[in-house]
Amino acid sequence: MKKTVLEATKKIKWLREEILKHNRSYYIDNQPTISDFSYDLLLNELQTLEKKFPELADINSPTVRVGSDITSENHQNAFVQRLHKSPMLSLSNTYDKEELYAFNERIIKHTNDSINYVCELKIDGSAISLTYRNGTLIHAVTRGDGEKGDDVTRNVIKIKSLPKRLKGEGFPEEFEIRGEIFMPWSDFERLNKLREENDEPLFANPRNAAAGSLKLLDSSEAEERGLDIILYHLSFESSDIKTHYDALQAAASWGLPISNHTRRCSSINEVIDFLNYWDINRKSLPYPTDGAVIKIDSLNLQKELGYTAKSPRWATAYKFKAEKAITKILSVDYQVGRTGAITPVANLEPVLLSGTKVKRASLHNEDQIKALDIHIGDFVYVEKGGEIIPKITSVDKSRREINATIPSFPTLCPDCNTPLVKEVDEAKHYCPNIQGCPTQIKGRLIHFCSRKAMNINAGEATIEMLFNDGLLNNVADFYKLTTEDLIKFEGWREKSTDKFLKSVEASKKIPFYRVLYALGIRYVGETSAKSIANFFKNFSLISQASIDELIDIEDVGEVVAKSIYNFFRKPINIKLIDELRDAGISMESDINKKNVKSDALLGRTIVISGNFSITRDEMKEVIDQHSGKNSSSISSKTSFLISGTEAGPAKLEKAKKLGIEIITEEEFFKLIENK
Ligand code: NAD
Repeated sequence: MKKTVLEATKKIKWLREEILKHNRSYYIDNQPTISDFSYDLLLNELQTLEKKFPELADINSPTVRVGSDITSENHQNAFVQRLHKSPMLSLSNTYDKEELYAFNERIIKHTNDSINYVCELKIDGSAISLTYRNGTLIHAVTRGDGEKGDDVTRNVIKIKSLPKRLKGEGFPEEFEIRGEIFMPWSDFERLNKLREENDEPLFANPRNAAAGSLKLLDSSEAEERGLDIILYHLSFESSDIKTHYDALQAAASWGLPISNHTRRCSSINEVIDFLNYWDINRKSLPYPTDGAVIKIDSLNLQKELGYTAKSPRWATAYKFKAEKAITKILSVDYQVGRTGAITPVANLEPVLLSGTKVKRASLHNEDQIKALDIHIGDFVYVEKGGEIIPKITSVDKSRREINATIPSFPTLCPDCNTPLVKEVDEAKHYCPNIQGCPTQIKGRLIHFCSRKAMNINAGEATIEMLFNDGLLNNVADFYKLTTEDLIKFEGWREKSTDKFLKSVEASKKIPFYRVLYALGIRYVGETSAKSIANFFKNFSLISQASIDELIDIEDVGEVVAKSIYNFFRKPINIKLIDELRDAGISMESDINKKNVKSDALLGRTIVISGNFSITRDEMKEVIDQHSGKNSSSISSKTSFLISGTEAGPAKLEKAKKLGIEIITEEEFFKLIENK
């Protein structure tokens, strides 16, 4: 049916708003709420309507502008921004090979010369632009809004495969090279496993994990995430290099990481062969790909074809559809996590998906079972998403048996039979028997020993054995164990007992933030534990902090803040911390550690705005080094605002309104001078 202009206006408005909302979830929050395929359908619909009704075109439409990943100035993690030498754009894309033939026809019409294409894998990560000057890496900047992006150099230089200095010769004095920063599957699974154990929200896919890791404030944390990089676009003018393929070979000769899977093709049919091959074989790659990119090889022809506002005319992406498998639900189990969260898990008839045999799929919570309308015996579609175990995306209801039953969500804990509880604002049910539920206790003991926590040399089997014997009931019990306690167990000789007890002793020197993390407080991951420990310095101050004070800390949201607040309201937890203190565990951040220079700003909450003689990050670091707290927004709790050049007028106005002192950079440095 034909749409009237009024109907089209309404629909276009809705589509633009919807797409911008998804852009935000995807590029800024790194938590998409719909699949790429569904997103691309929305964008396609908008494009078609805008073409039909050119009078409704808008230069700000998401069909014309690339989705921006810039972290806004108001965000704690704001980065310095840098202009790109030439815009960093998106790519036109299609899921349909017929459209590639049409792309080829358009190019043929444009030129009389023979056409070569270069086919590359479209790695699913985050775009980055690197600048090398005199052979040294000087900047790494995200795509941002296409014109300017966030400077994330300090995180990018931690990528091992990326040379900070080039080798060989012949590279230009200064040039930009662009590529993709990505997270290999193995690192992604490791990261999400850890987040799952900590009840932290999981990354939906490796792309989001890579983009989120790039924007971490703590570059050592970014380094641990295992990011990698492949470069695919060298931009500089040279009379010697006439093709894209040769440019890539030159970059490789300078030591830069270029894909081994790039192929030069002399016809569109060869391009299609490349796509067919990789649609199947990509499943065995160690990193995620969402398609292939087809580029014109001749740099001259690229120049002639030029760009639209959003993408080059000389390249296009062919997207692979997410791999799905269909299988049967045999039964549903209910797992208890270490924080008491109950997760329903479907047992499936084994099915092959992305190279692995899938036997189980997470159903997340009761609402999800209802939303999918799951019945035992149903045939369901499974996909590999962000979860460690794959997820069920839909049910084939046409194959449902008449007497199929709905799985009944337990009312009692499957482990200790305690009635389950569900808070109004939580999606999960919890077993509240924190002190008595064996699975929770063992889960906490295992977490306490883990490498990133107290690094105690005890595996799950050892913990199970010591728990069953009554020697371990809470994490403080590790420090009461003696040789006599252990030597009685089969297989425990002097050497193994000694090794274990030595690791327990060594754990007393573990830094305070890891002790906080080791306690396994719901939603408190390594990053938030570090921020909280850095700010409050000891357990006593953390236990007294209000929810608002906690929220004001870097990497701490409302959910984490409430969880910490509640943890310290329970006498049993205070008793545990006392026991750990008596055992000799670190109970405070070392104020003398090298990056803490003074306590000149202790207890002061400081907001910065504008540009300074040093970067904004460095400014925040100075505040941190002098024990102050950096906050992104002005409130009545702000001690003062440091105003640089081009300070935000809204911030200045709010500070004035609340009577907050505004000082210059010079005045600030005077304040901490000689401290
Ligand atoms: P894109 O990801 O489709 O393509 C452009 C990007 O491809 C480049 O910026 C670069 O990062 C990457 N790339 C990887 N390998 C490459 C290679 N060899 N050569 C050139 N580029 C290569 O475009 P986009 O603008 O970043 O994002 C748009 C897409 O993102 C949408 O089509 C959609 O699939 C997805 N998206 C999804 C949501 C959601 O909510 N699910 C929201 C926004 C965007």
